[in-house]
Amino acid sequence: MTRTLDIRNPRTGENDYQIEITDAETIQTLTANMRAAQKEWLVKGLEYRLSVMEKFKQAVARHRKELIDAESIDTGRLYISVAEVDGIASAIDRWAAVARAEVAPATKLSKALPFIEFRTEREPYAVVGAISPWNFPVTLSLIDALPAMIAGATAIIKPSEVTPRFAEPLRKAIAEVAEFKDILHIVDGDGSTGAALIDHVDIVCFTGSVATGQLVAERAAKNFIPAILELGGKDPAIVLKDANLSRAVTSLLRSSIVNTGQACQSIERIYVHRSLYDDFLTQIIKKARAVELNYPDIGSGHIGPIIFEKQASIIRAQLDDAIAKGAVIHTGGEIETHGGGLWCRPTVISNVSHDMDIMTKETFGPILPIMLFDDDEEAIRLANDTIYGLSGSVYSDNIDHANRVAMQIDAGGISINEGSLTGFMHEAEKNSFKMSGMGESRMGPIGYHRFFRKKAIMTNTADAFPIEAFDEKNAKI
Ligand code: NAD
Repeated sequence: MTRTLDIRNPRTGENDYQIEITDAETIQTLTANMRAAQKEWLVKGLEYRLSVMEKFKQAVARHRKELIDAESIDTGRLYISVAEVDGIASAIDRWAAVARAEVAPATKLSKALPFIEFRTEREPYAVVGAISPWNFPVTLSLIDALPAMIAGATAIIKPSEVTPRFAEPLRKAIAEVAEFKDILHIVDGDGSTGAALIDHVDIVCFTGSVATGQLVAERAAKNFIPAILELGGKDPAIVLKDANLSRAVTSLLRSSIVNTGQACQSIERIYVHRSLYDDFLTQIIKKARAVELNYPDIGSGHIGPIIFEKQASIIRAQLDDAIAKGAVIHTGGEIETHGGGLWCRPTVISNVSHDMDIMTKETFGPILPIMLFDDDEEAIRLANDTIYGLSGSVYSDNIDHANRVAMQIDAGGISINEGSLTGFMHEAEKNSFKMSGMGESRMGPIGYHRFFRKKAIMTNTADAFPIEAFDEKNAKI
């Protein structure tokens, strides 16, 4: 029997869409077909695959409006939805350039055994599985699938059941590319579909929470397939005593609240040197108060609703915990209901400490808890006092000073004099530290190379190794 899921609209709070949950049997059939189709996809070569990706770009362009509309309903915001849809073409171009820069493997002579020639070929995984979250639905569903397909793999995507509307127009675009048959599939479903997918793919790329990431890693381990995990964060920003105050205020407000703070690389806590603290707080409160909701008109304001209802409860609980422990809310601080959707204005909080959840657990909302520090050691200790190690920021007009501090933060991507540059930068390779993830960087050229296994081809150019060479009596003990 087909199971269905009702999908909530984040602007109205109403369930106005449904998906059918894809079962394990369907995943098995799809992936078996993909495995068969992959052989030709690979053999036809890179330029063929890139020409098909060009057709996909054109199909996406034909469905641009539908995709943006669906993504806007999924997420309740417009500007970023447009950027996500238009970003598909630029991502394809970027990965095409990386792939074309590849050089054929050189044949070398072994130093240890000079009569052996060898080369290292690279063979893509046949079927790549991608499981994605709800905060950037289009971007994060395709972020791993696009380079994987260019590498010669096929890809099956399981988007979040919180924001699945975009999959319908995307499937239409995929269907218009005949060469994509069994090369790219998007399957609707919940966690059970995601779990089933791990049983039938050759590598899984997961973007989501730490808790689910652990389940994904366990299941992948049982299947002996690699799991690349991009998980949550609690990104710190450190505003050093020699920072440019107005620059820090401007960029940290943006970096904490874009996408209503629903970004893994959002700044979630700000540490400010005592000498700048009062001015920083005054200025950021003023700027935060000027931020507007994109309500009632989605084409107005700066931030959208809270996409996932449960996230609103997490934000509320963290705020209540902080207030009960003495935190002071300067602006925002409420989960507001407008038109049935849930909203939260930028919330600046002071008098915070690390015994509050809001300083240690992922919030995923437009919340700016601000804490003062007296010296670099204290700021670094506080920044590292977390299970996460995704990214962070350091502000200073003295670049050497900023770099010294940046190098001591336990995280994989540090922005200097800006917030969350990892959201804009695709060239810089980075790993997720600590509980924020596992596996190779999805950014930079290695983001493409992740989808290959290495295969050594070794040729003996001299006489065969005879069994006599292993005569036991010649063993030197
Ligand atoms: P989630 O972990 O709840 O869900 C992510 C996906 O996993 C969904 O598609 C879901 O259906 C699927 N899933 C659930 N149970 C599963 C199971 N047992 N096996 C396989 N798949 C399963 O995460 P979310 O709430 O959708 O996303 C928010 C989280 O994602 C935040 O923690 C955020 O920081 C993180 N995130 C990380 C990055 C990054 O690049 N590091 C980017 C965006 C979001």
